[in-house]
Amino acid sequence: MQRGPTLIHRFLLPALTLGLTTAPAACDATAQDAPRRDIAIAIHGGAGTISRGDLTPEAEAAYRGKLEEALRAGYAILERGGSSLDAVVAAVRILEDSPLFNAGKGAVFTSEGTNELDAAIMDGRTLAAGAVAGVKRVKNPITLARAVMERSPHVMMIGAGAEAFAAEQGIELVDPEYFFTQHRWDALQRAKAQEAGKPVSEPKGPQAFTPDDRKYGTVGAVALDRHGNLAAATSTGGMTNKRFGRVGDAPIIGAGTYANNESCAVSATGHGEFFIRNVVAHEICALVQYGGLSLREAADRVVMQKLVAQGGEGGVIAIDRNGEIAMPFNSEGMYRGSIDRDGRIFVGIYRE
Ligand code: ASP
Repeated sequence: MQRGPTLIHRFLLPALTLGLTTAPAACDATAQDAPRRDIAIAIHGGAGTISRGDLTPEAEAAYRGKLEEALRAGYAILERGGSSLDAVVAAVRILEDSPLFNAGKGAVFTSEGTNELDAAIMDGRTLAAGAVAGVKRVKNPITLARAVMERSPHVMMIGAGAEAFAAEQGIELVDPEYFFTQHRWDALQRAKAQEAGKPVSEPKGPQAFTPDDRKYGTVGAVALDRHGNLAAATSTGGMTNKRFGRVGDAPIIGAGTYANNESCAVSATGHGEFFIRNVVAHEICALVQYGGLSLREAADRVVMQKLVAQGGEGGVIAIDRNGEIAMPFNSEGMYRGSIDRDGRIFVGIYRE
């Protein structure tokens, strides 16, 4: 009952007073105050129970170093006047090629002991999108998702059909063995033991990799380019011990990945089923576009309130058309980083 008058008073009346025909996004106020650069990028490498002391100092340095490398690669493209699409793909490919993150090379195992990868990309300018799910032989699923977007009439392709399309497009295929990593294999064995009710011994002391049973590891990037275009990209191996054939939120447009120049670009990580049911990425952008919330308010509303109330663990990275960045997570930690409109670089793992 309160809703109509409240919305009208908050957004429509001020807009009419200013003589505007469309209500400005609430974030315009912040944008006026801030010294403006027109490019920015944010990335994530997964959220979860990542505590200080979980990683050896060398491992922590490796995670931070790889996040920074991915950020800088994406940012360099933006600085040269390149597109946000090129920037997010460059950043995500670096994370896919690293065994540290649950995407590409470091993908987790299904209950069958296989690796099934999902990825999606979206262009905020045109609302074009491309996604792949359940691919087993594609080295960089994000590149295949982009090919689906740009070189097919479709939005989403899965399994063998997606791989056949990859082969046709000259996209690099690898033997499934490429995705074997010992730490992911060990994590699968722990997950299976746990499922069978057997006692599971957690790895002791600081580790070279964050144990999978304590985190979600998807990678993603969002960016704003000099032409005012937003893009989002997400790539994942899914969740350890998932049933084969299970698809998470990452390749579902609107759930784990979304971009729209009218509002924002979002890439998510966390317990995918919750992100699908809440259409998280699109919901954040809709709150910005239609609800007049700032990016931070919108992202917090969904990640810190709605998902928390349901027990949906995870986080997002989000960027709006003014280059504002929000990276809320309701888990203990989230591998993340950004280079903001002022060119300031930030890389974080734990809650600051
Ligand atoms: N969101 C991913 C999924 O559910 C998992 C993750 O973020 O690591 O497939």
